[in-house]
Amino acid sequence: MGFLLRVAHANGLCEPKWLATNATKGLHQRLRICPHCLFEPGAYWFAAWQSGPPICNQHQCWLIDACPDCLKPFSFSTCRLHSCRCGQPYQAHCGVPVDPQIWKILYVDRVDPDVLMWMGSLAKHGLQGKPGKRASSKQVQEIAEFIELGSAAAVEWPKGFHALLSRIRIPQTGAKIALASSAFPAFAKRIRSIRDADWRARIEIEFLAYVRNTQGQESALLSRQIRSTSNAKLIAGRHGLSVERIKRVASQNALPVRVTEGGRKRYVIAPEIEERMIKELGDEVSTKQASAVLGLHPTRITALLSAQELTALGRGIRLASIRLFKDQILALATPVDSRSDRWASLSKVLKAYVPRTSTTEFFQAIKTRQIEVKCTTHPPSQTLGEGLLIQPDQVLAWLATRRAVQRCSDLKLDITHVAKALGVKPDVVRSLVLKGFLTPIETRANARAPQYFHRRDIDRFQEAFTSLKSLAAEAGIAPKQAPSWARHVGYEIVSGPTIDGCRQYFVRKAEIRKTERLAS
Ligand SMILES: [Zn+2]
Ligand SMILES: [Zn+2]
Repeated sequence: MGFLLRVAHANGLCEPKWLATNATKGLHQRLRICPHCLFEPGAYWFAAWQSGPPICNQHQCWLIDACPDCLKPFSFSTCRLHSCRCGQPYQAHCGVPVDPQIWKILYVDRVDPDVLMWMGSLAKHGLQGKPGKRASSKQVQEIAEFIELGSAAAVEWPKGFHALLSRIRIPQTGAKIALASSAFPAFAKRIRSIRDADWRARIEIEFLAYVRNTQGQESALLSRQIRSTSNAKLIAGRHGLSVERIKRVASQNALPVRVTEGGRKRYVIAPEIEERMIKELGDEVSTKQASAVLGLHPTRITALLSAQELTALGRGIRLASIRLFKDQILALATPVDSRSDRWASLSKVLKAYVPRTSTTEFFQAIKTRQIEVKCTTHPPSQTLGEGLLIQPDQVLAWLATRRAVQRCSDLKLDITHVAKALGVKPDVVRSLVLKGFLTPIETRANARAPQYFHRRDIDRFQEAFTSLKSLAAEAGIAPKQAPSWARHVGYEIVSGPTIDGCRQYFVRKAEIRKTERLAS
């Protein structure tokens, strides 16, 4: 090209294109020049300018391919040997120096400029559009921009490339876990377009590394090409747990999930979340395991669990609650002076004397020190069943009082006994039944049959209500004045002749207490 320009110049031709023949090809391409190289008169036009990165190796500057004055692109028809057609001499311009970092990448590290262009166009245009076309741009300004952007991704390999990938990935709506192929559509094809085999492999590897790295993050990516180390199945295998348990905990914790078209759930669980999950799962123990920890028969564990002495977790029991329960009981134990026949192990005592249904009450009795516990060793051995000692005599005594209490509350009273207990006539009891204050035990539908009451119901009534008559008598008020006195003092009369036709007045005990408090 320089030769033709020189010939035209030497022959005084004002239009070098007059020299163009069929043999002179490529005359319509954009011409690139180094203004510094052309500074000296008689300088050469280098053929190397037209290919490769638009950089002058000698001056380490970007070439120019358009006149900064008239803005016309340089071509065979606009260029003269020493100046643009507009008359502006090339010497008047100066090339933009190439950043030393880009220089190093291109000429020291010898990274293929096409690779930099590939990454640069990705950085500029993202995954949309046809970057392949754009990357093949011939304009110096655009090429320079692509190379600069590409160098930024290549300079801190692979960190810069990963950052680029994070920037361009297409955000997913809805599901937090996406397929790598939808976050980076047609990316494999795009990678295949890289000519430099070495760099193609590097980029492929780093892309997979990037996808793998996302597994520790909220917005994880799935790819068939990488073997996920963090899915439910593998985690289950690693910790010897069932996949179902892992999936259950994952869904309880609302971990990011991708539901496949087939409806299967795919989890990608980050290592720190895995750790937490396993800890939680480790905290969930089976009845059998709890039985081993406490040294108690599984039926005792079930009883304690249903009484909420132990806490349920998932389908098992929370280990922490088992430990807490154990510590509470162990804390009550004092070392035994000498092991005599009077002491037996807790498990023996339970087996011999304590029915399954009384398990919780038995441990309550230990907690309230109604039943004493001792331990043989200090600190007490690891299980309750064998480590703790109990006096069977104490257990028998406890069971006896318990039975007495139970019998008492189960006791049936007939209407005369109820009347006696309440200090009223039987008729009053009947009217209390009619008013719904007392409920007799269901007997046959025969109205003539004697009515019986549970002792505990009578106790409950006495706890809540009292007769106004006795209250007035205590206060020295005449029975006839009692109702008006009661209202004056502020008692709540719940039943009585003027209230509901009941034969006697009754007031609520809570009101009495309140009134007494006010009076004092
Ligand atoms: Zn130069
Ligand atoms: Zn010009």
